[in-house]
Amino acid sequence: MRRIGHWIDGRMVQGTSGRTATVWNPATGEAQALVDLADVDEVDSAVRSALAAAAEWRATSLARRTEVLFRLRELIDANRKEIASIISLEHGKVIADALGEVARGLENVEFACGVPSMLKGGYSEQVANGVDVYSLRQPLGVMAGITPFNFPAMVPMWMFATALACGNTFVLKPSERDPSASLLLADLARQAGLPDGCLNVVMGDKAAVDRLLVHPDIAAVSFVGSTPVARHVYETASRNAKRVQALGGAKNHMLVLPDADLDQAADAAVSAAYGSAGERCMAVSVVVAVGSIADDLVQRIATRIPAIRVGPATDPSNEMGPLITAEHRDRVGGYLAGASHDGAHVVVDGRLDVPASGFFVGPSLIDHVRPGMACYDDEIFGPVLCVVRAASYAEALELVNSNPYGNGTAIFTRDGGVARRFQSEVNVGMVGINVPIPVPVAYYSFGGWKASLFGDTHIYGPEGVNFCTRAKVVTSRWPDPASSRVDLGFPQNR
Ligand code: NAD
Repeated sequence: MRRIGHWIDGRMVQGTSGRTATVWNPATGEAQALVDLADVDEVDSAVRSALAAAAEWRATSLARRTEVLFRLRELIDANRKEIASIISLEHGKVIADALGEVARGLENVEFACGVPSMLKGGYSEQVANGVDVYSLRQPLGVMAGITPFNFPAMVPMWMFATALACGNTFVLKPSERDPSASLLLADLARQAGLPDGCLNVVMGDKAAVDRLLVHPDIAAVSFVGSTPVARHVYETASRNAKRVQALGGAKNHMLVLPDADLDQAADAAVSAAYGSAGERCMAVSVVVAVGSIADDLVQRIATRIPAIRVGPATDPSNEMGPLITAEHRDRVGGYLAGASHDGAHVVVDGRLDVPASGFFVGPSLIDHVRPGMACYDDEIFGPVLCVVRAASYAEALELVNSNPYGNGTAIFTRDGGVARRFQSEVNVGMVGINVPIPVPVAYYSFGGWKASLFGDTHIYGPEGVNFCTRAKVVTSRWPDPASSRVDLGFPQNR
């Protein structure tokens, strides 16, 4: 069976821990590779490589760093299809979706090409007699990134592009479920001229992550994944005096107000709930139908579902692929079974009529869902759309604001005044107005509130630059013979 190793010091390295995990083909249900799981020594060797490369990369001119990133941009662009097919084979998402992932990741490499303009500091001349003050932004050193299975190329690009542009070196620990895309990205970075050691990829599970969180040479940790692990990463890395941003799970609500265009809202809900089989942290998982439109809206969503083609990505006419593992498929199926038991109404049950092999669950719709039901309270992370009915905008807002997660939300309405109130009143980090998946473009930053993010800075964009650098302020006086004298008084700005 194919073996997937680590990328350390600019080359592939076979694992030595003796531990591996199976990489499945989710569309067929067959094992397709074994990925090495690093132990402490292997993580340490990746960090050593990154540390050894750090001084030279940090000292490399901004012009040269940018040149490497521009070349990486070109190489990723030229290899879009190859990256997408690797993603699709290990994750299961259809090729069009995988290409979308590459495109959104590439935006971050493009943003990184312009990072020098954001590293400019301030300068104040003559703050005191003969004294000037200026600020610098400097790299942190070695940064670590730990990424989830659902975006095996985009989320790594969210992290390492900005980190490298800011002059850091990087150790990436991708998801062990679909690890290969990150190896191709690392090889493209090498081809682009990135010096060996600047970007290392270490495969692994909790053992590797836990080593990164306490390693004395790791200055900062970016994490994206589920909320319990995000909390663990945040607490452990902070306790070890590292800068940390840990993005967690989600339960994204889409409000549909009575004045909305219901066909447009139904199209958006279906696209945002079932794209990538619902395995997106910005997927819509709850539609909140406000007022008397609920029956009509549920009907319009339900009639669209049979047209969605579910199956392996090898058939280009399929629009929705499988879930990541058999366990996850069974877990998602469990929510559908439990919903009827809890008193909700399963309008469309995705456990029926799906390909027999592979980890498929079809688009599913549950109506009359209420808080307190497991299908509402938990992040399902599958193609299951819950409909909650609310009597008013105020009740719908309260529902969103009392949810523990705060990643994304959307409102569908023709009323600009209500939309404007919503954007201000909702306690969620990313808001869509008639846009169901409001993932910010690369020159803003991405991040949720509440249990969807632990840490102070959002990821990528301007906040990413702040996260990847630290500020220094220099106060300088150059000898000026005209003003030189002895003065024992406390320095004052006069
Ligand atoms: P996960 O939390 O299981 O794994 C994420 C990473 O953490 C992986 O690299 C994994 O190897 C590692 N990991 C897993 N368990 C660990 C443990 N106990 N200790 C230390 N490390 C551990 O998440 P996943 O299943 O890969 O991804 C899906 C989750 O990610 C969903 O909850 C989804 O909402 C979330 N997600 C969030 C965002 C966001 O931006 N907020 C984006 C994508 C995915």
